Amino acid sequence: TPFPAERTVLLTGAASPRGIGRAAADRMAREGWAVAVLDVDAGQAEAAAAEIGQARGVPVLGVGADVSDEAAVDAAVARVEAELPPLVGLANLAGISSPTPFMQETVAGWDRVFAVNTRGTFVVTQRVLRGMIDRKLGRVVSVSSVSAQRGGGTYSKVAYSASKAAVIGFTRALAREVGEHGITVNAVTPGPIDTDIMGGTLTEERKAAMAADTLLGRVGTREEVAALIAFLLGEEAGWITAATYDINGGLQIS
Ligand code: NAD
Repeated sequence: TPFPAERTVLLTGAASPRGIGRAAADRMAREGWAVAVLDVDAGQAEAAAAEIGQARGVPVLGVGADVSDEAAVDAAVARVEAELPPLVGLANLAGISSPTPFMQETVAGWDRVFAVNTRGTFVVTQRVLRGMIDRKLGRVVSVSSVSAQRGGGTYSKVAYSASKAAVIGFTRALAREVGEHGITVNAVTPGPIDTDIMGGTLTEERKAAMAADTLLGRVGTREEVAALIAFLLGEEAGWITAATYDINGGLQIS
């Protein structure tokens, strides 16, 4: 099915100025999509939307919502559906990391990581899929992590790795259910990218150590991940579904 000329992509976790989501939102706007930036930080979501909209000349809407909060997501997506062209794309990027070693992990800490990374992906995707199923067209891309495959090894520990492994299972099982509606569902598994998710712990020394483990001798950039997300959300990627795309400089060879 060809994409309508006027179409919207919603990206969660796309407000952080140095984040992957922000780079992906900018990239999609550059490619002519109307863009919705959904983030728990409403102020930053609005600021990102204003900046991207002005730079790229497409409609961009910033909405505040915690992806783990079903009512907030429902209201935010309803606003996007009312104010922007049909939602054809969804990128699930909202995520939090957790450096807590397993024996110090608490139930509350564990639940919070799963609430954002796993429940959030479920809540937003289910809400957005309603319209996609009606229109028989959709692209869903969720950001997992190399940590899901390698068992961490960079910054985050068990809760994060487990929550991101769940995103891969989610992707495969959901792709099975919605393929008949013309909807593709894929995951990407980035290696270390220099953003703020590691809470400022990504020092030059730490970066050098992680870079040394890759085949290319460097960490990745947010623009490189944004380009992969844009490809999977694009019209030409229509026969790719249930796939997990590695983007890690060879840190992990699946
Ligand atoms: P980031 O911290 O820069 O961005 C994450 C964004 O998610 C922020 O804008 C934050 O406000 C938002 N967010 C957090 N909790 C939220 C919630 N409950 N509801 C809505 N929004 C929420 O991080 P990033 O590095 O750009 O990460 C983006 C995604 O990529 C995450 O899912 C992360 O796990 C994943 N990832 C990152 C790396 C890396 O090395 N940076 C590697 C692999 C995967």
